Amino acid sequence: MREGLFGGTFNPVHLGHLSAAKTVMSQLALDRLRFIPSGHPPLKGAMGLVAGHHRAAMIRLAIGDHPGMEVCEDEISRPGPSFTVETLTRLHEQAPAGTTFHFLLGDDCLSRLPQWKGIADIRRMARFAIIRRNGCLPDDLGPDIDRVDMPGLPVSSTEVRERLANGRDVTDLVGPDVAVYINQHRLYGAVQEGG
Ligand code: ATP
Repeated sequence: MREGLFGGTFNPVHLGHLSAAKTVMSQLALDRLRFIPSGHPPLKGAMGLVAGHHRAAMIRLAIGDHPGMEVCEDEISRPGPSFTVETLTRLHEQAPAGTTFHFLLGDDCLSRLPQWKGIADIRRMARFAIIRRNGCLPDDLGPDIDRVDMPGLPVSSTEVRERLANGRDVTDLVGPDVAVYINQHRLYGAVQEGG
């Protein structure tokens, strides 16, 4: 079993995340890919972070019935900061023998990897799949890192939040179902249509 783990704040999930997830699933021939929204991201501020249950609900809407894609609520259901090493250790213990883990990461996160708690343990339990997002990647990423080149979809959650704060539509960035959810729940300062 080849399993992908896609950690992030997903505040909110957008089409860039989805496109990266689909590309990695196909390029690395993954059987399953779990999105893991973080509860309290240690390396990002909590400013403007909407509740975990909303972020998980939006991911569920975004992935729809895409085969093999799921949401893991491990981190949002635990108090305190979310450390990948703890989540991965738990998933590793529960996994059937022969499972390989592939941790997806955008190239913007690569330089901060050495700061991650338990990075040596993480690298023993999982391979990294680095998605080329904005920048260029070094040719040699090391033996335990796979590189995934994909046509960039230059969207970020920051852009989604900024547009919403300015009262603008975000359907082209997040897809129709997530856009409706954001409006219905008035997340990120969205104004409900007709309300
Ligand atoms: P923010 O703008 O709030 O910083 P973000 O759009 O970078 O958010 P995160 O939830 O922080 O989204 O990202 C989770 C993971 O998805 C990270 O590894 C990040 O690099 C990757 N990622 C985010 N957007 C894209 C994209 N457009 N294409 C490929 N990977 C992406």
